[in-house]
Amino acid sequence: MSQQQKQYDIHWLTGQFFDSSKESRYRDSIKARVRFESRLALPLVSVVVAMFGITDYNLLGLTREFYWLLTMRIAVVSSCLVLAFAIGRWGGYSRNAWLHSLPLWILATGIILIVPLRPESISTQITAVVVAIMAFYLLIPNLLTVAALASLYLTVGFLSAAAVYAGIPSENVLRVSLLLIMANIVGYCALLRIEFLQRKQFALLQDERDQNRDLLKEIKHRKSLEAQLRMVAERDALTGLDSRSHFMKRAEALLQRAQLEKTPFCLFMIDVDHFKRINDTWGHTRGDLILTKIAEVCEQSLRPTDVIGRFGGEEFVVGLPHTSPSEAQTIAERLKENVEALPLTAELSELCLSVTIGIAAAHGEEDDLDVLITRADNMLYEGKREGRNRVVMFGEGMDS
Ligand code: GH3
Ligand code: MG
Ligand code: MG
Repeated sequence: MSQQQKQYDIHWLTGQFFDSSKESRYRDSIKARVRFESRLALPLVSVVVAMFGITDYNLLGLTREFYWLLTMRIAVVSSCLVLAFAIGRWGGYSRNAWLHSLPLWILATGIILIVPLRPESISTQITAVVVAIMAFYLLIPNLLTVAALASLYLTVGFLSAAAVYAGIPSENVLRVSLLLIMANIVGYCALLRIEFLQRKQFALLQDERDQNRDLLKEIKHRKSLEAQLRMVAERDALTGLDSRSHFMKRAEALLQRAQLEKTPFCLFMIDVDHFKRINDTWGHTRGDLILTKIAEVCEQSLRPTDVIGRFGGEEFVVGLPHTSPSEAQTIAERLKENVEALPLTAELSELCLSVTIGIAAAHGEEDDLDVLITRADNMLYEGKREGRNRVVMFGEGMDS
């Protein structure tokens, strides 16, 4: 038991967590239940206290002692009821734990006060005190330390009153003391066990929650890593366009769909003209900037349904679903003009930027993506040979 208590950081004597913040969190977690149980237990205790008024009357009749006892019982019962209400409203088990202990002190005082007023019924009172001690530990929710202190007060107070007012002989005082000590030990051990088990359950639940939180954090971290990895694999780092492999995957799917639905599909191979010269004249950094600008022009000149990839170096590739060869020709011309008209900084004003575009259209089901790329590439070289800055369509020998 003590090994386990150590494992869960619970004090072996008080049944509380060593860590005060953990103890506070635990008490907060059971606050609502403790309030509910107190509100239920205190009226019950009040009924029992009031009930014994009948025996007062039987024993004492309408004497002065009876009225004193009646007054005392009314005071105890009303205090318990008021406290039940107060605990229900303000009885935080962490900050206002003292409020929960008040009923115990009032009840103990009431029980002790019965002795001088009804000394002849001491034997019944001993039984009542044993029951009260058990109730202090087990019926009225309180911290173990509070229940133990209040029970000790009741035990010592009752024994003193019994010795003084009931005049019980010293050997009987010893017997009653042992009986009450036994009741205290049983009550203490029972509550210590309950306190330990409840805290152990809380600690396990907290551990589980912490593990779940860590797990969720780990999952989130892995998902973000996965997204980053996907980004690296799918995106071209410089232009943000699809990487070559990702383009191939997407374009392949679009081409297959077009072939299945028997809709037109075209492909562009775009190459920046004299890019080596641009690099040599204005430097690689500006060359990079120009590549990103061209990528932006491609995105702006094409439709969201088109797929654009960086094929490598200063070459771009575009897949155009639902696009007939003549539409592709028009789109390519527009794209070429937009590149020419690209606004450049003053230092690049001398630069004549242009691209050559080779177009291939899918004919039937036998054309796969590689075939289309080769055809468009051939058209691109045709355009280069013919002087660059032009659009060349496969199969029609068209240029512009
Ligand atoms: P052509 O009109 O025949 O296409 O001539 P070109 O100079 O554009 O073609 P070439 O293949 O001779 O040169 C391509 C150049 O593109 C060479 C290479 O250094 C440059 N290049 C390739 N990738 C990058 C890049 O990421 N950034 C920069 N700044 N330059 C690149
Ligand atoms: Mg090239
Ligand atoms: Mg080039």
